[in-house]
Amino acid sequence: MSKNEQFVRFDKVDKSYDGKVLVVKDLNLDIAEGEFITMLGPSGSGKTTCLMMLAGFETPTNGEIFLETNPISNIPPHKRGIGMVFQNYALFPHMTVYENLAFPLKVRKIPKDEIDKKIDKALAMVSLSEFGQRMPAQLSGGQQQRVAVARALVFDPKVVLMDEPLGALDKNLRESMQYEIKHIHESIGVTVVYVTHDQGEALTMSNRIAVFNDGKVQQLSSPDKLYEEPVNSFVAEFIGENNTFVGEVKDIDKGQCKVKLENGTEILANPIRVKTKGEKTIVSLRPERAIIDPKENMQNQHKGKIEEVIYHGDHTRVRVNILGNSQFILKVPNSSARMDIKLGNEINIGWDSHDCRALDPK
Ligand code: ADP
Ligand code: MG
Repeated sequence: MSKNEQFVRFDKVDKSYDGKVLVVKDLNLDIAEGEFITMLGPSGSGKTTCLMMLAGFETPTNGEIFLETNPISNIPPHKRGIGMVFQNYALFPHMTVYENLAFPLKVRKIPKDEIDKKIDKALAMVSLSEFGQRMPAQLSGGQQQRVAVARALVFDPKVVLMDEPLGALDKNLRESMQYEIKHIHESIGVTVVYVTHDQGEALTMSNRIAVFNDGKVQQLSSPDKLYEEPVNSFVAEFIGENNTFVGEVKDIDKGQCKVKLENGTEILANPIRVKTKGEKTIVSLRPERAIIDPKENMQNQHKGKIEEVIYHGDHTRVRVNILGNSQFILKVPNSSARMDIKLGNEINIGWDSHDCRALDPK
């Protein structure tokens, strides 16, 4: 059986809380069975609202949500077969780990011997087999979130929703939990809809990412495509680091365009989201793609003055003033220790036109 590409389907969904402002605007999103999809965006961009509508705690103002081709508006939350892990959706403090996991099974009237089997399996999945009789207060923050993940999975839901589930954990624990959740997803293949404002987390975990801004999906792509081919400057700014120049398209041909910057210099760029001569554009270049002392045949070569040098262990961040941009960042690997990276020095910087993307200035 081939997998269902429209396992979950948001169809022309709008949401307004006050009857005036739409906080979700015309959302059309198909989620494939078994996919790990992430809604990524700044605070207030409508991510949680989308999850709440899918879970059944909020109703769309317009449009419909489908699960396995069935409209779900009239199905109450507990009958949708959806598991949830939220940052603040705590465990029941007065129940043991075992009882916390038994709860969603009892609600669904699963027989006792099956309950035990399912709980054993779910606890093994999050490496907490020995912890069934502990109270939540006797667990670390990371262990509690793993129990929350187990509780969301224990009744074999069709879809699991996770809203910033790692937000309260410190950096190291958050990163190891990202891999843990990713591996659980890979081993059981449940459909996951994940929400985060952390782009690194989204890139690490997801099959596809929907980037939200102001209630609208700006781009829906695989992590690499989002990083390499952002559709507009919002996405480029939000995913990873960027150096930007503002300019106007002077010439455009297949795969290449000439952009005149505000300071009058012309550079060669990759026309990702510009089509015609005369268009305004924001040109975006990742810090790691700019090179010091480039080979002669590299297309874009300009002099910049070093204004700041910060040591970062594996690399050095160098801020230069170049082509009228005093916030231009270079990342120089520290294996190639260099004598000329000193405050005030002038250096030659180059980049390939392919890595320098001319975007829609939205
Ligand atoms: P995100 O999860 O991306 O931070 P939310 O979906 O929580 O965004 O919020 C989107 C917008 O809707 C925000 O402007 C927020 O203030 C508003 N909002 C969220 N929940 C409610 C609510 N229950 N009542 C009124 N406004 C809300
Ligand atoms: Mg939220």
